[in-house]
Amino acid sequence: MSNVIKLESVKPQKWENGCVSFSRYSTYHSCARKFQYKYIDKVEEPKNKNFELGKAVHKFCELYHNGVEFDKAIVDCMCYELEDKDKDMIETMAKLYIEVELPYEIKYTEMGIRHQNYYGILDFIGTDNITGEIIAGDYKTSARMPSQMDLAVAKQRALYSYILSEEYDIDINTFFFIYFIKTKKPKIAIFPTAVTTKEIDNVKSWLVGTQENIRTDRNFVANHSSMGCNMCSYKTLCLRENLGKELTELSINLIK
Ligand code: SF4
Repeated sequence: MSNVIKLESVKPQKWENGCVSFSRYSTYHSCARKFQYKYIDKVEEPKNKNFELGKAVHKFCELYHNGVEFDKAIVDCMCYELEDKDKDMIETMAKLYIEVELPYEIKYTEMGIRHQNYYGILDFIGTDNITGEIIAGDYKTSARMPSQMDLAVAKQRALYSYILSEEYDIDINTFFFIYFIKTKKPKIAIFPTAVTTKEIDNVKSWLVGTQENIRTDRNFVANHSSMGCNMCSYKTLCLRENLGKELTELSINLIK
């Protein structure tokens, strides 16, 4: 089957109850309390500058690669509450992005894919400019590039490769991660090797294990880390709760 026909078979799929995804479960591993706020208590995610920046950049790429002209894509991607200096930064990032010579042509963006109860959202899927092979990738707004050994990136690649292979008969050999690093030119991290059966088995076990951990977790312990907390939308709520806890403990000590 040709790659064009294969790509056309990738239809967007929606999240359904009972699905498991890399992004939800990696949130659990980064901080169980954040997972609780977001997915169990369903606390509406407070505005967070870093999160809004990331969403705006994703939105710009989606619009731009779907044929919206640059100026309009810039205006339309700012649909979030952003300060003027952040809007300027996004515009700079977008200008630098469109200067990058991408080694692939994008066919679809922001594509929900699912196999059985495994779910993921591909930021883009398309074809390699030279080989014509199908490629897939993800945008990251981050301060650092991943290495080949980056566990989170490895798991994400393995899960998406598995879903594409099982559900759409598409084997991905090359995965691209585009890193938006503030006002620097975005960097392309290329992962040029197909994931192995062992990697796929590992990510499936990780998903099943995480599901079980969440099911039996009674505490959803907060994982305080300067970088994670700084980027976290729930930091005010979390801090308030922690302060409350400390105050309660303090009052108990005082009563004693
Ligand atoms: S502020 Fe930090 S500890 Fe609290 S929920 Fe967010 S990431 Fe977790």
